[in-house]
Amino acid sequence: MKIYNTMSKRKEEFVPLEPGKVKMYVCGPTVYNFIHIGNARPYVVFDTMRRYLEYKGYEVQYIQNFTDVDDKIINRANEENVTMEALANKYIEEVLKDAEGLNVKKATHHPRVTEEMPQIIEMITTLMDKGFAYEKQGTVYFNTDAFADYGKLSHKNLEDLEAGARVDVDSLKEHTSDFVLWKPNKPGEPKWESPWGSGRPGWHIECSAMAKRYLGETIDIHAGGEDLIFPHHENEVAQSECANGTTFAKYWMHNGFINVDNQKMSKSKGNFFLLRDIVESFPYEVVRFFILSGHYRMPINFSDELVKSAEASLTRIKTAVKNLQFKLENASCEKISDEELKLVDEAKKFRADFEESMDDDLNTADAVTAIFEFVKFANINVTDSSSKEFAEKIKSEINLLGEVLGLNFEQDTKNENNEDAKKIEELIAKRQDARKAKDFGAADKIRNELQEMGVVLEDTSQGVRWSYK
Ligand code: AMP
Ligand code: ZN
Repeated sequence: MKIYNTMSKRKEEFVPLEPGKVKMYVCGPTVYNFIHIGNARPYVVFDTMRRYLEYKGYEVQYIQNFTDVDDKIINRANEENVTMEALANKYIEEVLKDAEGLNVKKATHHPRVTEEMPQIIEMITTLMDKGFAYEKQGTVYFNTDAFADYGKLSHKNLEDLEAGARVDVDSLKEHTSDFVLWKPNKPGEPKWESPWGSGRPGWHIECSAMAKRYLGETIDIHAGGEDLIFPHHENEVAQSECANGTTFAKYWMHNGFINVDNQKMSKSKGNFFLLRDIVESFPYEVVRFFILSGHYRMPINFSDELVKSAEASLTRIKTAVKNLQFKLENASCEKISDEELKLVDEAKKFRADFEESMDDDLNTADAVTAIFEFVKFANINVTDSSSKEFAEKIKSEINLLGEVLGLNFEQDTKNENNEDAKKIEELIAKRQDARKAKDFGAADKIRNELQEMGVVLEDTSQGVRWSYK
């Protein structure tokens, strides 16, 4: 597999540090709000990377942190008159709900900054001892001048950084690009004791400390959105490599942005769509499919139309899978014929195309195209006279490719958050009860009511299925 490495600006062959194992660290969100559609992208993209690596047989250790101490969290907690801890806990829970909705696998571990203070303080102490950091009035800074490689990830050079910087209002720093490792708390702020007085860590150090604790000094893949390249990841490289004296991450992957009206979407500008609001109209899986329909490094301009079109595409695949299910349930013969075996052989090319695309820097856009080609093939070649075994083989191959992308093509498209869907499910349950009680008049009435809502019912061996006309 080839991965585009931000560090080398090239696609490189992926070779893990240890055969069969992958250590992956993905920067997580600052928890003071629900996540927006942009935040959903790294969740989906890197979860897909993990799933693909697992599909290829690797054992993946996946770490994603929660930033649960930060100015924005403190301000929001003050506004809402709750503790920082309560606010962070609430949003961690909400973020995890969204992640689950998006079918993102749980990380091997989700460390939280507030639970990692000893490791953070230990790393800052090492940086002080080795002469890469200095303290001024309770604030500890990383000395970027002491690290010759500073700028190697973002391909910036220190002199340009210094020259381009605005006049530094923070007079305590020795160089403009130096950054905070530890800072004193303001009155009333959460604080931890440290060798430099009470305070809390700067933002960047948490990831260096957590990556080291859970994955070791050198990891395979470090990932996040492209806005994190500078300064966050650049600073992580500086901290980790100076403290550990070795390479921090072998591959650096960054997803492109989801924009709105070609403008950067940000929580602070207010021009963003919360995932929670989007899933009022579209199921989570459609959002996942929408995100994977583009290459992860390309920008996406978010619009309702694009998500609608993703929904229609996903429905096409699901309808094909449903038809395969119907055909295998109603097949007149069990055993696969020689002719059909040849077709199964022919169909192997779709999985090969899928893998070739995924191997090319996780090109999920082309991988989805391979699935569409497969669906076309199935629609043509699996017919009413096909054997059960053949329909089954084709269906499970298509489903397998869906699973690699974290999509379940057999699951009925429904939206648990949608009020209509809830009402439909309730009516279906009532109709079932009426039928059980042999009250066929009531059951028919409910069926008609559903029909007026544009819902068609299908009684299958696994229960009642519904879809919109
Ligand atoms: P934040 O909570 O802002 O630190 O962001 C959490 C993750 O979402 C980081 O990996 C960011 O790079 C990523 N991210 C933030 N905004 C966007 C966006 N509009 N499009 C894609 N990724 C984003
Ligand atoms: Zn980070």
